[in-house]
Amino acid sequence: MKKLKSEVSEIDGVIRFKIDIPWDVKFVCIYLFEIDGVKVLIDAGLNFIDWSRLFFLELKNLKIEPKDIDYCIVSHAHMDHVGLIQKLKRKNPEMQLLMHEITNETIKWSDDENNDQEMKNAAIEVAEQMIRYGISEQHGKRIVQFFTSWPKLTKYQKPDRILKDGDEIPFETNKLKIIWTPGHSLGHICVYEEKNRRLFSGDHILSRITPHIGVFTVSPAIKNKYPMNNILGYYLESLDRIDKLDPKIIFPAHQEVIYNPHERILAIKEHHKNRLNDIFNAIQDKPLTPFKISQIHFGEDLNEINMFLALNEVLSHLIYLEHDGRVKRIEQDGKILFSAIT
Ligand SMILES: [Zn+2]
Repeated sequence: MKKLKSEVSEIDGVIRFKIDIPWDVKFVCIYLFEIDGVKVLIDAGLNFIDWSRLFFLELKNLKIEPKDIDYCIVSHAHMDHVGLIQKLKRKNPEMQLLMHEITNETIKWSDDENNDQEMKNAAIEVAEQMIRYGISEQHGKRIVQFFTSWPKLTKYQKPDRILKDGDEIPFETNKLKIIWTPGHSLGHICVYEEKNRRLFSGDHILSRITPHIGVFTVSPAIKNKYPMNNILGYYLESLDRIDKLDPKIIFPAHQEVIYNPHERILAIKEHHKNRLNDIFNAIQDKPLTPFKISQIHFGEDLNEINMFLALNEVLSHLIYLEHDGRVKRIEQDGKILFSAIT
């Protein structure tokens, strides 16, 4: 495994901890800032021993103790954003941990051994669906392995406050606003600091790549309460809601700080529009499985995880087009193919 590096800087009054992670997105950033003398931490990094050591070392270098952190707000349930919630809370029981209801339910569900069978069933359900969308049985088996082992790395910590869309956290002269932004993850939130118009975007808006859109396995309870099928539709709506806030600066959880939020949001929307058209064009002459379309669109030389992410991404676009009445599904020999409506 590669040796992880860390870098700390102050940007527009916000401390950024930029610490390597051992996969594609390369590093994750967590942010610490003060609001009327109260210290707020956005996201909780990765629960890997090297990562944790680097973070607490950098904190010490700044002469900040874990007990000085008053709030920790996490953006979504993925492992590189909630890793240290349990550790932080143990080091500082007074710290207020805040997260969205879906994030809470997701981590609680996957960290409880009593739900292992339920988790396995949810993973099998996803894998069977993906096989119908064109992947091999073999790849399906590995999806089950992935979805039953990967979430186990995240340790649950009961939050002190459950957040919902539009919630506010008031301070003496300023406030933080919570915006629920489903898309990259169902329970994803952005945190907006009003006075300086700073947005902490998690993985909702990144500076160079468009975040992966699609939902992984969720608990039956969440699935029933939030039956959100057209996830790209929700993502694009979430982008518009952020744009309306008119943030001055965006602090994302990966890649660089964004100084032109409106332009970046327009570029991401344009990117999805083009991808929607490319996918629509790929099935104009003959219907194809989503997996075949993902191979045309993203290439065939991807590793298994990226192959799955590519398929999921294509699927979110196909479902969007289906809602729009531009494509339809056809069943053929147990497989599902999509065809353009012309
Ligand atoms: Zn991430």
